[in-house]
Amino acid sequence: MSEPCQHENFEAVVTVHRVADPDQPMHFMADLSIRCAACRQKFRFIGVDAGLSFEKPRVNVDGTELNMPIEPELVPMLHQRMRYDMPPVIP
Ligand SMILES: [Zn+2]
Repeated sequence: MSEPCQHENFEAVVTVHRVADPDQPMHFMADLSIRCAACRQKFRFIGVDAGLSFEKPRVNVDGTELNMPIEPELVPMLHQRMRYDMPPVIP
């Protein structure tokens, strides 16, 4: 019996979309998926709600694709309420 994969190398795919609707402002989305390069097992994104949003990152139903709203850096910020969270301190 072979040893279980240790998941030491990874493959990532990023797909960027323009979401154009004549009655709405232009939106951009980046979709990210990651899998083990050896065994091909997909990785799940943790701590992100499922769904689709132009304001917050979301994941697909099984959590294996991260859908992130993005915008060009040099345009005025559309989302002024940004937060920067840090992981909890381990005593
Ligand atoms: Zn693996």
